[in-house]
Amino acid sequence: MTTYQGGEFYKRLGVTRVVNAASWLTKLGGSIMQPAVVDAMNDASHWFVDMHDLNRKAGDVIAKFTGAEAGLVTAGSAAGMLLEAAACMTGTDPAKVDRLPDATGLKNEIVIHRQHLVSYAHNFRAAGARLVEIGGAGSTREWELDDAIGDDTAAVAFVFGPRQAGALPLAQVIEIAHKRDVPVIVDAAAMLPPPENLTRFIDMGADMVSFSGGKGVLGPQSSGILCGRADLMEAAYMNAAPNSEGVGRAAKVCKEEIAGLITALEIFVDTDFTAVQAAWHDQCDYVVSELQGIPGIRASIAGTEPDIDESNFTHPRAIIRSDKSWKGPSLKRVVEMLEDGDPSIRVGSAGEYGGISIIPVDLQPGDEELIAQRLKEILTSGN
Ligand SMILES: *Cc1c(COP(=O)(O)O)cnc(C)c1O
Repeated sequence: MTTYQGGEFYKRLGVTRVVNAASWLTKLGGSIMQPAVVDAMNDASHWFVDMHDLNRKAGDVIAKFTGAEAGLVTAGSAAGMLLEAAACMTGTDPAKVDRLPDATGLKNEIVIHRQHLVSYAHNFRAAGARLVEIGGAGSTREWELDDAIGDDTAAVAFVFGPRQAGALPLAQVIEIAHKRDVPVIVDAAAMLPPPENLTRFIDMGADMVSFSGGKGVLGPQSSGILCGRADLMEAAYMNAAPNSEGVGRAAKVCKEEIAGLITALEIFVDTDFTAVQAAWHDQCDYVVSELQGIPGIRASIAGTEPDIDESNFTHPRAIIRSDKSWKGPSLKRVVEMLEDGDPSIRVGSAGEYGGISIIPVDLQPGDEELIAQRLKEILTSGN
């Protein structure tokens, strides 16, 4: 069983501990930073620095790891999306930067697949952009994208969500947009790991790419990574803190978070993700094997699918379903019972599979035993 460190502060406030089998969710605190990351933040807290100097040099590290012309530490991928949209509307014109979020008279349209409206697109709108939607249930025709691009198009957005079915692939989006001289801005918040994705979308020709720093990179929860074309990145920075005239001022990043994110990124690119994936698989396997033989319950593993560009498939999951012979509480009720305990166990919904998914990416060693034990108790009581 796990022995947990820390928590004194939460106990003092009476806050319940959560066992997080639901992934890098902001509402559960995102991820746990490694000690070296927290140490770097502590170390950085002792000096004043010129934030422009720090941002440039941290940006150079991001540029090196992403292969992009320039980089910037942001306040999360959502803030990266805001800055992408702002940058494509204003360019480096200070008068336009000053005018946002009123984007009247600017190129202010962002074309986006309906399949990509996974509850983050308002971060583009927050900059003042208007979304022009394309795509239908299950498919998008190339001409839809071409037709949606016009004189007011600032950018074509591409969002990597949990499911992409029916959207044009990124390579095709880039090809069509670039033919019309329109930049492609990418939200790849939850697409790290694998670390190869740090360079892959830039290599494909994306003009700006935004990642979360507080998900699989294990940096500060409120940090992110933005990288891309030098001119657009300069425009993004003009819209960002510490400058006070831009829409990005409300998404400030502090010096300690920059130190934490850069340190986390350095550790991330050095991590053996084959071993990490194997450990995640073992944790899923433990839960699945503990739940075998309960009448009406089926537990299995959904593996990592490196060839599918969807954030659901960057890691394995344990999937728990009930069949028609199941006599116990609904799995929705089971989820509530898991939540009601102390610690409170939070699980994912298995989406297209129905049922519960145990997502291992934020499990601490031993959490899988606690989850399996509690699930077994719930699923076998009264049957
Ligand atoms: C998590 C997520 C975001 C937001 O990222 P933050 O780093 O929390 O701001 C944006 N888009 C997608 C698809 C995400 O999964």
